[in-house]
Amino acid sequence: MEKRVCACPYCECAVPETAPEINGKFYCCEACATAHPDNQPCQQSDCDCHRRHWGGIMS
Ligand SMILES: [Zn+2]
Ligand SMILES: [Zn+2]
Ligand SMILES: [Zn+2]
Repeated sequence: MEKRVCACPYCECAVPETAPEINGKFYCCEACATAHPDNQPCQQSDCDCHRRHWGGIMS
């Protein structure tokens, strides 16, 4: 099976089976899927994607 990577622009985490699908894209966690509101951190603690000032989901 093909390995999926999170659709958050600055995240390179692997996407788990149970990942939420939004607009046909998969995200590794709820925080990435919702564009890190209030700088909510990624499920991967050493990933700093939430600090890159991503303003919202690209449709
Ligand atoms: Zn991440
Ligand atoms: Zn992610
Ligand atoms: Zn992210």
